[in-house]
Amino acid sequence: MPTVAEQSYDPEILLGRSLESGRLHSAYLLSGPGPKPREAALAFARGAVCGGGPSRPCETCPECRRSGPREETAIDGTGKSGPLLRHVGDHPNLLWVERGAGDTRVRIGQIRRLQRDLHLRGEGDGRRVGVVADAEWLNQEAQNALLRLLEEPPRRATVVLVATTSASLLATVRSRCQRVVFPPAGDDPLDDPEQAELAARLDELPGASPSQLLGWAEEYRGPRAPAAAAVHQLLAIGGAWLRRGVARNLREGTDDVRRALDADRELSACRKSLDQRNANPQMVAERALLALRDASL
Ligand SMILES: [Zn+2]
Repeated sequence: MPTVAEQSYDPEILLGRSLESGRLHSAYLLSGPGPKPREAALAFARGAVCGGGPSRPCETCPECRRSGPREETAIDGTGKSGPLLRHVGDHPNLLWVERGAGDTRVRIGQIRRLQRDLHLRGEGDGRRVGVVADAEWLNQEAQNALLRLLEEPPRRATVVLVATTSASLLATVRSRCQRVVFPPAGDDPLDDPEQAELAARLDELPGASPSQLLGWAEEYRGPRAPAAAAVHQLLAIGGAWLRRGVARNLREGTDDVRRALDADRELSACRKSLDQRNANPQMVAERALLALRDASL
């Protein structure tokens, strides 16, 4: 598998695209502070086996019902007072490893067990996903066992590592994973009070008429440099607004995110034409606002 460089792309959109395309890498590394990477790993694993769509997990198909929340079995890394790993919900193809309660490490026995179970033929020959949460707590020997699993991934299996920071992972482990980096909370430009007005206007966008859209875009007339800077600002805030909406939809599993992904692509194209082609800022703003409206968030 080719080495994939660290992605600076929005994590939820990146994972959504993987699910949407159906072409999953054999390994992912989700890193960042707080609960988000772990939540995203859970949603991603469930989405990988979801038989519905287009937004995954759809929460209505039989696979999603099996992978839905259950009372969680406490894991014990030594296997003495509990299992080494558990299933997500009671889905046979979704495996979850984490640090046992009160344990200081994710243990090598847990990784070996994961490796064994991922090699077993999954139910219906469907995709299997093994999540290793608390991956920063893997010791060296457990990482070496994990490396063997990543080097020879079982067919139709995906391993998802979740870590607060990837710094304690071996470079050889990191390099075999598609990296997905979650930024610290507070980096969201929508939280900036100076952008509150623009964000509030974007919230009104889904119901906007064509003439309202054109009227908004007309605000970006005038000398090119300041107009282009203002459109860049619109694209940045619009992108953040889109990502927030996608994250919400993926969490709730209630909506189609494909149109939001299309809109995100369109915003990238807008940014390019604004930078490279000397495009008219008002026209670019029009395109961007149309795309954002049609994201149907
Ligand atoms: Zn489903």
